[in-house]
Amino acid sequence: MLIRLVALNARFVHSSPALFYLRNLLAENLPDNELELCQLTINDPYYDTLLRLAQGSPAAIFFSVYVWNAAYVRRLILDLAQIRPDLALVAGGPQAAHLELPTPVKLTVAQGPAEGLGPDFYGDLARGRLGSLYRAAAAAPFAMPYRPEDCRGELHNRHIYYESSRGCPFACSYCLSATRRGVAYRDLAAVLAELELLLSCRPPVIRFVDRTFNAPPERALAIWRFLARRGVDTRFHFEIAPDLFDEAGLAFLAKVPPGLFQFEIGLQSFNPASLAAVNRNPDLAKARANIRRLAASGNIHLHLDLILGLPFETAASYRLSLNEILALRPHHLQLGLLKVLPDTPLAQRREEFALRCCQEPPYPVLATRWLAQPALADLYRLGELIEAYYNPRYFLATLAYLLEREANPAAFFAALATTAGEHGFAGRARTQELLSTILAHHLRRRPDGELGLELLRFDWLACGHRRLPVHLVPAGVGDELKTAQDRLWRALPDHYPPLFRPQSRSSFFKRSVFAPFSAAALNQLGMGPGDQPGIVAFLAESTGGLKPRQATVFFPSPDR
Ligand code: SF4
Repeated sequence: MLIRLVALNARFVHSSPALFYLRNLLAENLPDNELELCQLTINDPYYDTLLRLAQGSPAAIFFSVYVWNAAYVRRLILDLAQIRPDLALVAGGPQAAHLELPTPVKLTVAQGPAEGLGPDFYGDLARGRLGSLYRAAAAAPFAMPYRPEDCRGELHNRHIYYESSRGCPFACSYCLSATRRGVAYRDLAAVLAELELLLSCRPPVIRFVDRTFNAPPERALAIWRFLARRGVDTRFHFEIAPDLFDEAGLAFLAKVPPGLFQFEIGLQSFNPASLAAVNRNPDLAKARANIRRLAASGNIHLHLDLILGLPFETAASYRLSLNEILALRPHHLQLGLLKVLPDTPLAQRREEFALRCCQEPPYPVLATRWLAQPALADLYRLGELIEAYYNPRYFLATLAYLLEREANPAAFFAALATTAGEHGFAGRARTQELLSTILAHHLRRRPDGELGLELLRFDWLACGHRRLPVHLVPAGVGDELKTAQDRLWRALPDHYPPLFRPQSRSSFFKRSVFAPFSAAALNQLGMGPGDQPGIVAFLAESTGGLKPRQATVFFPSPDR
């Protein structure tokens, strides 16, 4: 019999470890069956996916159901049940029990970790007599689910998700991990051997799914040391609690190669009342200090999260959290909405907190006792605008200047949001050109607008553009990029190491872009002596690093 195992991932590069765990368990318990792994995405055309799953007469189809794919999976199950009423449909994963199907549709729900499913499940599956619910034993041992051939097959060019521990030492009340107690740590030697095997396949990214990777810190450090020693191109992603680092870990992390590690850090709020209400009790002072230290090293990609809509979070306290998180200068900010997931301790306190949320997965919050719907919507849009400006590499110099000066960055972004509203920001593609146009309009209203516009011009050219857009061309100066290039062409000698030799002089001038900047702008950019204008060459090479842009060189103004 053919059993099809299906994962609907959020993006093509993602993969689903659940599929591989299940493949191994089915191969072990029902060895005579044909197993087919099928990784698709929720962005694939629905009808094609439906036909793809129904073809070839499978006897059973298994789905992994999460908040992000539950709606898509539900639709597939409803339609597959029409096409093939005899087909066994099995759902596992955290949202499997919440699909709420109409009665005639038969679905088998496997609840809990797949390793905990008993012989009754496999026996019933083989006999074609599956029941509606199977509860797995909670504390089953688990091993890495991948086989060497997976790297060349199903995992090729995808992120690999790896679990060195299962469970979380914390119990945040909005999280499904809060419903399960305890953490199962795998044997460290086995973990390192498995990682060795995975690294031999040279995957682009390995994402550790351990819910709080650096608890305990010594174990995390042992794994980090091993990964850094391997000197590979693979990037490693970890979910981290920032207040749990120890001195040895921080000292080691300061020296890892740039870009090797990415840390995702869920701060969620800086409001102690909100954190306490969702059963989070981080040491905020330690978290701030450790993140600042990691950010100062500049070698680890830091991704920080806030959640909008927590209990006790008012508009004022959320703006303070925004200011706090911006002050930490992460590389990436995620300003997401609270999701009120069924079966979580938070969901049981919905009435107490007056939480209103969408009825369908992922159940995002609409209003709370502290934030009426219009106020929450305003803060959500503000968060979207901050993400649009802060996360790309488009405005590094301009935002560095503005954020250094703004005592209240959230207020600055709120004012920018008003300008964005005047330019129809909502509903338009957030291209660099649109964002830059809006920011230019906003800067022109400020007393330091000229300096801001120069920095915006620098940012535009540092992103590899060879021409200025209309909104960044200074009035009445003609083609200032061409003029700057001509001036330097005349002024520079034939031999200018290490930039060019006589034979490569023309090519250097053809491949680079030149623009004049004032002393004030250069001072802000940390280029030149600080009190003279000059010309910046944007070279045909990248700075590298975590947000790569064009490398630049300063030249004193040839007229001086
Ligand atoms: S939100 Fe993170 S830290 Fe909190 S219980 Fe869930 S996995 Fe653990």
